[in-house]
Amino acid sequence: MRKLNIPIIMQSNTANPAFPQLGDMPVSEFRRHAHQFVDWVADYFEQIEQHPVLPNLNPGDVRAQLPTAPPLAGEPMENLLADVDRVIMPGMTHWNHPNFFAYFAISGSGPGLLGELLSDAFNINGMLWKTCPAATELEQVTLDWLRQMLGLPQDFWGIIYDTASISTLHAIAAAREQLADLRIRAEGLAGRADVPRLRLYTSEHAHSSIDKAAITLGLGMAGVRKIPADENFRVRPEALAAAIAEDRRHGWRPFCVVANVGTTSTTSIDPVPALADICERENLWLHVDAAYGGAAAVVPEMRHVLDGCNRADSIVMNPHKWLFVPFDFSAFYTRKPEVLRRAFSLVPEYLRTAPDQHVENLMDYGVQLGRRFRALKLWFVIRYFGWDGIAARIREHIRLAQQFAGWVEAHPDFECMAPTPFSLVCFRAHPPNWDDTEKLNRLNEKLLEAVNATREVFLSHTKLQDRYVLRLAIGNLRTEEHHVRRAWELIKTQLMEIRTA
Ligand SMILES: *Cc1c(COP(=O)(O)O)cnc(C)c1O
Repeated sequence: MRKLNIPIIMQSNTANPAFPQLGDMPVSEFRRHAHQFVDWVADYFEQIEQHPVLPNLNPGDVRAQLPTAPPLAGEPMENLLADVDRVIMPGMTHWNHPNFFAYFAISGSGPGLLGELLSDAFNINGMLWKTCPAATELEQVTLDWLRQMLGLPQDFWGIIYDTASISTLHAIAAAREQLADLRIRAEGLAGRADVPRLRLYTSEHAHSSIDKAAITLGLGMAGVRKIPADENFRVRPEALAAAIAEDRRHGWRPFCVVANVGTTSTTSIDPVPALADICERENLWLHVDAAYGGAAAVVPEMRHVLDGCNRADSIVMNPHKWLFVPFDFSAFYTRKPEVLRRAFSLVPEYLRTAPDQHVENLMDYGVQLGRRFRALKLWFVIRYFGWDGIAARIREHIRLAQQFAGWVEAHPDFECMAPTPFSLVCFRAHPPNWDDTEKLNRLNEKLLEAVNATREVFLSHTKLQDRYVLRLAIGNLRTEEHHVRRAWELIKTQLMEIRTA
């Protein structure tokens, strides 16, 4: 046997005075700082309302306070925590704040954070069952719990990705793989005269992640046909059927429909049963984007929001949005995991293991090889709050939103701009006798600016049929009725000030 000549760099790390200490932070020091940091976090949660929800700074302000080069020598942890207070905190938008009503207000939670802490401590890579059996098996069990909570059928197989955008990318990749005759995995799409142009369909109100998936998968923006919606922002099935027929006549190959349960702008719910009929008839993959809205199905009386989704090929919902699991965590379910696997499984020799025949290796179901131990935080959240506890919190958010929508409707200077099926209210100021759209748009833009400039609350906006609309989203665990009342007072006061200015 040939002898390898391996130089001995250093025999003992304590023997070299230039390296008095290699290895990690000593455990005793870690213990001390960890206690201190946990106290810092608990204080932060306790005092969250003493911070304005929005920071007051200009672009570059945070960066200007940071050295441009890394430190050569290590620094004590005390310096770091002091700099978090001095540099980072003034640059924070506080998503944990109960007055955060922008976008989709999301909320981590104590149990979720503790799960994340353990997951970071283990620092495993769950690419293979063998590289961490507990991660793979807990992921399967917790996703099956969540499936039951959502009322989805037993043949839905789940996997965790980081975000809904990535979940949807995998859904569309699987839909493309299902076109087996085109051999796209092997041959690609570029430069092939034998492949028709592929088309997927979704609502004009669908999330941009669908376009991004199409860009990534070589379908192009032209490969996504946006279908018009009705007056309540739900995609029109007859318009979808007509678009598919027209495309077929013109040589396109339809392959996928993405339905929405809770669009980003207004949380409208597409008529999924009618879309499922079309997909079955036309043999198209039906993917449901329920990134935000899906969580509501955990509440028994809201389960209807997923009506028809049992007939979908795949569905995504984000526990990091409205299920109190810290960012990031997206749950993806499909009835055809074998198609997903066909699209992505590629096992090099060095990743082959003896139990491969008997276990699920989650790296086979996606682009990424390495996988975090995300299931821990979902496990903690479900067990700590219980199904009932989670449902009670979501139910309360929906109640608060309905109440806010009621105040808007009852006020002569305001109006709701979309139905409120979940916990997002779309509304605008509309004083009597104002009917110029542009003028109203400017008024509402100013109103949003003024409300957010108080830094006491944070709302966002959208445009619906060229109208500037304010969005108030409730989804934070700390949001109580008095916070929503205060937001409403602020909005009314700011409108008055703008109009008298
Ligand atoms: C938030 C959202 C997304 C994107 O979610 P990420 O997890 O940030 O990628 C997609 N679709 C809908 C309907 C959403 O609300």
